[in-house]
Amino acid sequence: MRMNEYQREVVTELLSEIKHRSPFYAEKFKDIDLTNIRTQEDFETLPFTDKGDLREAYPLGLAAVPEKDIVRIHSSSGTTGTPVVIPYTKKDVEDWAVMFERCYRMAGITEKDRIQITPGYGLWTAGIGFQAGCERLGAMAIPMGPGNTEKQLRMMEDMQSTVLCATSSYALLLAEEIKRRGIKDRLALRKGVIGSERWGEKMRNEIAADLGVEFYDIYGLTEIYGPGIGISCDYRNGIHMWDDYLYFEIIDPKTGETVPDGTVGELVITTLRKEGAPLIRYRTHDLTRIIPGDCPCGSRFPRIDIIVGRTDDMIKVKGVNMFPAQFDEVLSTIDGATSEYQVMIDHLMGRDEVTVYFETDRPEDQRPAMEQELVQKIKSKINVTVKPMAVSVGYLPRSEKKTNRIFDNRY
Ligand code: ZN
Repeated sequence: MRMNEYQREVVTELLSEIKHRSPFYAEKFKDIDLTNIRTQEDFETLPFTDKGDLREAYPLGLAAVPEKDIVRIHSSSGTTGTPVVIPYTKKDVEDWAVMFERCYRMAGITEKDRIQITPGYGLWTAGIGFQAGCERLGAMAIPMGPGNTEKQLRMMEDMQSTVLCATSSYALLLAEEIKRRGIKDRLALRKGVIGSERWGEKMRNEIAADLGVEFYDIYGLTEIYGPGIGISCDYRNGIHMWDDYLYFEIIDPKTGETVPDGTVGELVITTLRKEGAPLIRYRTHDLTRIIPGDCPCGSRFPRIDIIVGRTDDMIKVKGVNMFPAQFDEVLSTIDGATSEYQVMIDHLMGRDEVTVYFETDRPEDQRPAMEQELVQKIKSKINVTVKPMAVSVGYLPRSEKKTNRIFDNRY
């Protein structure tokens, strides 16, 4: 995707002042003459910023404004010790709410809606972002925070909530509970705003039906404002991203090179307007792709695909990058296949061989046709020829972690 004229101007201005504003970037770019960065190609020579860099700046080393201008901090914990702290100015907080309001509007949510917010409030950016966007929109916020399913359902019914904001796992839990109690008819839900993470299309449709909602996938991360920097539209064919606030790139996570539109790679984000902690070429480690072309909804905002995984999940076979989510996706389109599968990658007689085991409840004589379908679909989607193995339900060991489905036995 080309950097547009507006983005180029803002980036040029940002780079012209970043060393004065941000001690973090003054150090990081100390050997780089930023006045020479004029084109997109120049920009792509700048080093990436990674989460590890942000950790080293703990606690307030990322601040690019005087402390009096910081009105709030958020923090992402991460699994490895030192958290990352992101300072926000008044303007940053407002900009985030503007983007979030746009998300709600894109999802057809209006000031007449009652929005039940179940993501957590606190250091992490989730709940408060949903709240600020809701208030800016003029809808009624029902700020529940996570957990306490009993109370969630009571408020959902008594307050006649029309919108549910949740992680996909919590949406699933609520859907199951609503189904178990048979209370769907007493609820007024019509829309679900769900954190973008990989979940099978089948499961997603089931949950939406159980809740009686249409789902919209919202994207974001604490380092870059938080959730609300993009959302899917009624056509559900990707996530529209607010490119007047952010510049997006997709790179090959192994080489760092920009990949062509449509190719899956790592999402890299540059903030165009952030004051408190501007970030340049920040590696999200989320895998997605730019969706080429215009969306039928008419929005001019570019789209990325639903996040297909994390860079740590990526495996290269026969020169092709593969992600667990791609197998999830293919299997979800095969009639009679369950969502249980395992992929074995072996190096046999000088060649990489990929075997896909998948479970089915269909009798033996129907399985060869399913196997054939799998091979064709994987070939067209990932461009790798696999060896298919349909097995009976219960054959494969159950694993807690989705990422444990691909076993690379080559090394
Ligand atoms: Zn659209």
